Amino acid sequence: MTMTAAATAFPQGMSETEAVLREALEANGQRYTEQRAAVYRFLLSTDRHPTADEVFTTVRSDLPDISPATVYKALETLVGCGLAVKLTYGDGSARYDARTDPHPHARCLTCGRVVDVPGKLDTQMIDRLGPVHGFAVEGYRLELVGHCEHCVA
Ligand code: ZN
Ligand code: MN
Repeated sequence: MTMTAAATAFPQGMSETEAVLREALEANGQRYTEQRAAVYRFLLSTDRHPTADEVFTTVRSDLPDISPATVYKALETLVGCGLAVKLTYGDGSARYDARTDPHPHARCLTCGRVVDVPGKLDTQMIDRLGPVHGFAVEGYRLELVGHCEHCVA
């Protein structure tokens, strides 16, 4: 059996994704579980920014016994470990994104769909907004709002 250079870096049978997840969980005092791995794999596989319900519906097809609460806790754990970002909105809804680098989103005001926006803002534009009196800026979130191709008609 030939092993690729990438494969030799991980214990036998463990994918790079599993290794990354295991390391991040353990660094945060959390256990690696099949449920958490399934949730993380699904988040990595999609750019659709699913809600917890959507994650549950998909992951349940692989792990029929998983509960909505377990999925929700797994998502929060991934966010806590820095492996996912939680996008929250004024109506209390939330979506999850395994892409953790700062990037802008576009959100449909009708159906709630969220998509990535290509390109990056010049961060000097952000600097031009400040400083805000008495406020330590940690970062920014940019969201374009409007109507997606399914809702515009
Ligand atoms: Zn829409
Ligand atoms: Mn995104």
